[in-house]
Amino acid sequence: MSLFDKFAAQRTLRASLAEGGGVAPIATPMDTIHSATSATIGGRRLVLAGTNNYLGLTFDAECRAAAIAAIEASGTGTTGSRMASGNYAGHRALERALADAFGWASGIVFSTGYQANLGALSGLAGNDEFLLVDADSHASIHDGCRLSNATTIRFRHNDPEDLDRRLGRLGADAKRTLVVVESLYSTRGDRAPLREIVEVKKRHGAWLLVDEAHSFGVFGPHGLGLCEELGLLDEVDFIVGTFSKSLGGVGGFCLSRHADLELLRMVSRPYIFTASSAPPAIAATHAALRRVLEGQDLRERLWKHAHRLHDEAIRLGYRLGAPTPGPVVALLFESREAGLALWQGLFDAGVYTNLMIPPATPAGLSIVRISLSAAHGDDDLSRIIAALAAHADLGSPPARLRA
Ligand code: PMP
Repeated sequence: MSLFDKFAAQRTLRASLAEGGGVAPIATPMDTIHSATSATIGGRRLVLAGTNNYLGLTFDAECRAAAIAAIEASGTGTTGSRMASGNYAGHRALERALADAFGWASGIVFSTGYQANLGALSGLAGNDEFLLVDADSHASIHDGCRLSNATTIRFRHNDPEDLDRRLGRLGADAKRTLVVVESLYSTRGDRAPLREIVEVKKRHGAWLLVDEAHSFGVFGPHGLGLCEELGLLDEVDFIVGTFSKSLGGVGGFCLSRHADLELLRMVSRPYIFTASSAPPAIAATHAALRRVLEGQDLRERLWKHAHRLHDEAIRLGYRLGAPTPGPVVALLFESREAGLALWQGLFDAGVYTNLMIPPATPAGLSIVRISLSAAHGDDDLSRIIAALAAHADLGSPPARLRA
């Protein structure tokens, strides 16, 4: 009897992915990173089209300089929680800058985006309160619910009518309910119907938290996300985000129109019981935030790529996860073999993407996820599209449906 016996399925899956001795599609070893869009993997230089580096800021000159200067000035780490010795001026300045960008009262920085969701959900919703979450939410949202003492209810993905029904059933308790959705879902690249969700939550007097992890920097005139783009910032109570995607660093945040968000610092365990972010991470993120706010040029380049790839993928007969273009283009397959074959074909053609397979995917689908960056050149896009064209037979319905 071993504690590891229960991992038989994982053992089999790991072994099958390693078959053939090539580069594994999961936890792919990145040997050398050359730029935001280029790396050497398995001895070959590839175009990176499977990161969350939407604006390409990981190699931005100002962000790098800010990180280096912060190490020189404040050291490599804080070695303490925000509640103890880790409450540096840089953390406080970044929180203020984030909240000011939204014109909101309060902002809290967490050490990762994962912890931001854990800290916000477990802190905001407690005993005798309710969390009503989109069923396809990121693991950090579901884990935040588990850490909270609130009752968690899931509603059908992107279905405001189901949300309406479930809030209706809660009656007066709807006012003690926090609705939690993402704005851009990164598995399929689809967007939440935020206008309808806001209508429903207002009608029932509930609260709303939107995770803009994949949309911050990407949508809106100032890059603040889909809520900004849709003019909904006055209707949303909390926004969670991460530094690890458009901002090119590591860390996370929760912002609110409500000044009382500050009280979360006193109760939120994922905020209290962990070291605060390292000074270089905070400084690079602050520099990246300035770039995001004035980054219409970067967004235009990203969206140009997004439209081109979306149109070409449709023309080639692939089944996409979202009806509209976006920085995430998900190619859906019923068969794991077809998904794996496309991932491998793209890899062999010099393009790194993400492969997602059951049980980590919705509806048992296998998904090849291509993500774009403002740092991609037109030639990178041509290479991605040529590789998709060379394997277009895998995107055709018979291959998609093969068991
Ligand atoms: N929320 C969503 C929607 C995400 O996709 C992610 C990361 N993939 C996170 C939160 C967690 O962010 P981080 O990587 O900063 O922990």
